[in-house]
Amino acid sequence: MGANGIAKYLNQHGYEKKQRQNGTLSTFSAHFVKLVLDNPVYCGKLAYGRRKTEKVNGARNEYHIVKQDEYPIYEGVHDAIISEEDWLLAQKKRKKTGIKNEKIYSLEHQHLLSGIVCCPECGQPMYGSVNRKRKKDGTFYRDYWYYACKHRLEFDGHKCTYKKQIHQEKVNSAVEEFVSKIVKNPKFEEAIKEKINTRIDTAEIETEIDSLNKKLRQLNMAKEKLGKTIDSLDVFDEFYNKKYDDMQLRLNGLYRDIADTEKELSAVYERLENIRKDKISQEKVYQFLLFFDIIYPKFTDAEKKEFLGSIIERIEINPEPTENGQILKKIKFRIPISYDGNDGNNEFSVPNEKMTVECAVLLSRTKKGLANE
Ligand SMILES: [Zn+2]
Repeated sequence: MGANGIAKYLNQHGYEKKQRQNGTLSTFSAHFVKLVLDNPVYCGKLAYGRRKTEKVNGARNEYHIVKQDEYPIYEGVHDAIISEEDWLLAQKKRKKTGIKNEKIYSLEHQHLLSGIVCCPECGQPMYGSVNRKRKKDGTFYRDYWYYACKHRLEFDGHKCTYKKQIHQEKVNSAVEEFVSKIVKNPKFEEAIKEKINTRIDTAEIETEIDSLNKKLRQLNMAKEKLGKTIDSLDVFDEFYNKKYDDMQLRLNGLYRDIADTEKELSAVYERLENIRKDKISQEKVYQFLLFFDIIYPKFTDAEKKEFLGSIIERIEINPEPTENGQILKKIKFRIPISYDGNDGNNEFSVPNEKMTVECAVLLSRTKKGLANE
């Protein structure tokens, strides 16, 4: 019986749980059963450090409790209510079934191309779904992962009828194979290296910064000069008050101009910064692409997902695989890669033959970076 079954059994057979003052449930829950099973106190031991308080990553004063995998167990001074053998047997079974059952196996899985693969019927993004297979005794067997169209609800007048679930593994590996083919092309490598080495042209923006700085210096000088003039006004002058008011008005105007210019300047600096950041993030992606075959297989699912998301915008698939088993129809990249003479945009029909077509890379001269795509 699993933890759920045990909790149900206890509740249905008149067992009552002693309620602690912190007011937990009066009935048994699966969680409670697991806590009891895992607590060595019932076989006469005392465990120390089963849970440890640790600082929350990146936070200054936040702590959370982390379950420890290893902790020392001491002989207790109390009587055991079950034997150590039974406790260990229960643990063994927990490790084999229950614990494994909850195991993060699936949590580590990421739907790599979720939202990027599009439904061949309605064109909407397809998302990841899971079919969890269990053995007869209810324990975890394995997960099957799919992309499916969730456009089932009728909106904008129609709903999608594409019911096929596409194995994630098939799409993922077809895409990985395609990227790998592209990056292995010597022309690609050449073009990428050139791209990385190109300096970004910031001359225009730097000129703008220079002239704004010059304007700011002039305004500040005028302000100082005017301030001195105001200070040296003769209080016995019959127009003193009038002159003072006039100058004060001009001074206020200068302060406003200075503030405006400073604002403008910081906006331009920000623009420059963004151009540099775009260049860096694009370079990073290109660097990764150059070593795709070496680096990619070592990525975690989360890293693969992030990487694929940064280079691919959209993937179209065939409603049914073609005769030679080809599932991909079209890939739209976020970065300029031209393939088979197809420049202009970043969209490629995946060739019907098994990717023997030579591909070339044309560098886009647009300033569009990855970040603003
Ligand atoms: Zn659809």
